[in-house]
Amino acid sequence: MNLHEYQGKEILNSFGVRIQRGIVASNHKAAVDAAKQLTVETGTSWYVVKAQVHAGGRGKGGGVKLAKNLAEVESISNDIIGMMLVTPQTSAEGKKVNQVLICEDVYYPGDSEPEEYYMSVLLNRNTGKNMIMYSTEGGMDIETVAEETPHLIFTEEIDPTMGLLPFQARKIAFNLGLSGVALKEMTKFVSALYTAYIKSDSSMFEINPVLKTSDSKILAVDAKVTLDENALYRHKDYALMRDLREENPIEVEAKAAGLNYVDLDGNVGCMVNGAGLAMGTMDLIKQAGGEPANFLDVGGTADAARVETAFGIILKDPNVKAILVNIFGGIVRCDRVAQGVVDAYKSMGDKINVPIICRLQGTNAVEAKELIDNSGMEIISATEFQEAADKVADVLGL
Ligand code: GDP
Ligand code: MN
Repeated sequence: MNLHEYQGKEILNSFGVRIQRGIVASNHKAAVDAAKQLTVETGTSWYVVKAQVHAGGRGKGGGVKLAKNLAEVESISNDIIGMMLVTPQTSAEGKKVNQVLICEDVYYPGDSEPEEYYMSVLLNRNTGKNMIMYSTEGGMDIETVAEETPHLIFTEEIDPTMGLLPFQARKIAFNLGLSGVALKEMTKFVSALYTAYIKSDSSMFEINPVLKTSDSKILAVDAKVTLDENALYRHKDYALMRDLREENPIEVEAKAAGLNYVDLDGNVGCMVNGAGLAMGTMDLIKQAGGEPANFLDVGGTADAARVETAFGIILKDPNVKAILVNIFGGIVRCDRVAQGVVDAYKSMGDKINVPIICRLQGTNAVEAKELIDNSGMEIISATEFQEAADKVADVLGL
């Protein structure tokens, strides 16, 4: 689960990671109040107004702006809230900004050379160990650094049984070219960051930039935090941070209905039981020349209500030109599923405006096929997997 910058910073702060302070606001009046409050708390007289959306590169897209007084806070916030922010990481249409984070300005006026670093914590899937990836080239797109100056990216792997050792944190600070107070501060920052990563059950932290101020403080100016959804049951407070406005609306609806649905770009809707069979079905559709429009695992109980919900969700995607139902009846009997498909089809009437190919295999498959063939509905039945895929290709004219 992805978080907004302000939520990520909240988590970092709770583990003692120094952050650029900020207060979130959803309208320009609240933004001004936030700025006043920040001045009381930090003494700052300049502010940074930062769009809160689940996408990076906001600075480049005009979603991060410096405000030198309260009037500027108000007008910049007014401009940014409600805008469609386009960044190198969003679609061309952009993402709607619902909130801004009003931050203290930490690039002190007159500070000629603030140092920016890159730091992320993530799992190296090849070695099965967490690692800290870091670079002196902060504030830039790390993919560009990786392409143009790969020797400026360092990694430090962490042994899961030992955790981050003090010498490793010092080595990171040293490789970033730090000494004296800044080296000590960075060592503390790295240790706290790693603790936060482990304790919050995150799957990724990306702090770009980490800033060294002219008085040698080290702090997180940005925070991209991805939580491991499977561990959310241990963090009820983090679960509340989910912002559904940032997620695909069809996926949100499917999730609420208990369906395992992932939206894809193709034109063949899939309704399958079991994740493995769903993957296999997508492969076969591709082999037959089609493109899957979604991954959908309806789970074990494919009754009429569930099938109807699933059809409804698949049909929300305007790209869908055909639907392939591929169900293996093991515990659930095929004739029950077939009845479900027929009932759903009947009750949905002309909402179903694309051909449906239905393959049911397993317990009572013969009865199921009869049920479908005799239903009087325009459902094309198939027995074999390949046959089903070929029939999909047929209706699409491939
Ligand atoms: P991103 O563009 O989405 O990665 O957003 P960031 O939070 O990284 O901010 C983008 C850029 O805004 C940073 O790289 C900084 O250069 C700039 N920025 C952030 N905070 C401050 C600040 O307090 N003062 C000034 N002057 N610039 C800032
Ligand atoms: Mn950033």
